[in-house]
Amino acid sequence: MISVPEHALTVVDRLEQYGYEAYVVGGCVRDSLLGRAPKDWDVCTNALPEEVLRVFRRFHVIKTGLKHGTVTVMVNREPVEVTTYRIDGEYTDNRHPDRVQFVSQVEADLARRDFTINAMAYSPTRGLVDAFGGQEDLAARQIRCVGEPDARFNEDGLRLMRALRFAARYNFDIERETAYAIHRNRHLLENVSAERIFSELKGILVGEGVLGMLLAFPDVFTTIIPELLPTLGFDQHSPHHLYDVWTHTAHAVQSLPADETLRLAMLLHDIAKPETFTLDESGKGHFLGHPQRGAAIARSVLERLRSDNATLSAVCTLITEHDHHFPTTIPGMRRCIGRLGVEMIRLLFDMKKADMAAQSAHERPEKRAALREAALLLEDTLEAGSLFSLKDLRINGKDLMQMGLPQGPEIRRILSTLLEEVQDDTLDNTPEALHARAAELVGGLPPLLA
Ligand code: ATP
Ligand code: MG
Repeated sequence: MISVPEHALTVVDRLEQYGYEAYVVGGCVRDSLLGRAPKDWDVCTNALPEEVLRVFRRFHVIKTGLKHGTVTVMVNREPVEVTTYRIDGEYTDNRHPDRVQFVSQVEADLARRDFTINAMAYSPTRGLVDAFGGQEDLAARQIRCVGEPDARFNEDGLRLMRALRFAARYNFDIERETAYAIHRNRHLLENVSAERIFSELKGILVGEGVLGMLLAFPDVFTTIIPELLPTLGFDQHSPHHLYDVWTHTAHAVQSLPADETLRLAMLLHDIAKPETFTLDESGKGHFLGHPQRGAAIARSVLERLRSDNATLSAVCTLITEHDHHFPTTIPGMRRCIGRLGVEMIRLLFDMKKADMAAQSAHERPEKRAALREAALLLEDTLEAGSLFSLKDLRINGKDLMQMGLPQGPEIRRILSTLLEEVQDDTLDNTPEALHARAAELVGGLPPLLA
């Protein structure tokens, strides 16, 4: 029923040959039953950690979390995590069990796991152990806590985010009692580390069912990012929009490719709309400067969530630029490429397209046409040659210094002028033409003696 790959089978078989009990467990069982390829294969066993080490003494073994009963066994270069059956002791900080206790029954180990679909074990000889209705919930396509939801979330607040992540990933619902408990216990997220929250948040955002989660659990998202609170229900007073800011955001996120950076940028792209909102005499809403202000807010949100710098900077650029019009001429596009880079421009195309898909039909054909034109212009510009930044110029600062110009800002100013003229096609990018024009620009300066 479940096809266990060679490396995991080796681990299970060997433990059983030594007289212990072993199962593959958790995510790999869930994904196999869903017909998806598991990311990794975990094993649980009644062998104590020291016994696991003995059984695999001829294997390369990493003592991943010996205290919690976990060792990683390498088989054919593939890691298999082996964890002794355990129950978790008291949780005094809603996060880490104060101690773990090893137990002898697999059912007891399954009972400490978060959701029914994650609490199944499979043995190639004894079959599936499903003590909490995991298969039933897979068939009903829902996430349900093992045991009493309030208690389970209080043990570990991260489980709130995990519930949303699994629901988003598989496009499942969250079972009603579990969902109520998530709303009720959202404050527990305040005790969870920023790194873990951020990692789960990205997981939710790239899930196929992200729209449903954003619409059903705005309270969870605004617990993590209170700066989003004013966007909930915020009426845009604009013919371009049929949704309030949060609902628009949710639809726009879902319309993007499943990329973490893009979806994070979209989650935060209109975060400054409420605070920049003005109404004109005709009753139309405007949001002057919301991209810049939004990027500044996004920066502080992402710093607080301990985002890596590459993601942070890409997200802020995408937000700053999301409302700009694209250039309509080759010289303009060349400058745009020089400023942002081709990759960023392509991401912006994705942003604009998704943003538009979540707006009203007002002027949609015109907006679509403009985007299509910009995409064509980008290709034309790339084909016309690489004249995007100073390094593409066939003259450099050294050449100018040899012409007698002192090192300093003047050099950069002249190079920038040359680049603009080349981009405008009023100057050839050949050393001769560039030298001649540079000499003109340098003008009055006396030439160096040869
Ligand atoms: P993924 O495909 O994302 O790796 P997974 O189910 O394998 O999903 P892991 O975080 O790798 O998730 O954890 C492995 C198993 O450990 C889970 O299936 C679940 O049974 C259990 N588990 C993990 N984290 C928790 C938690 N915070 N609370 C309770 N059980 C957990
Ligand atoms: Mg896993």
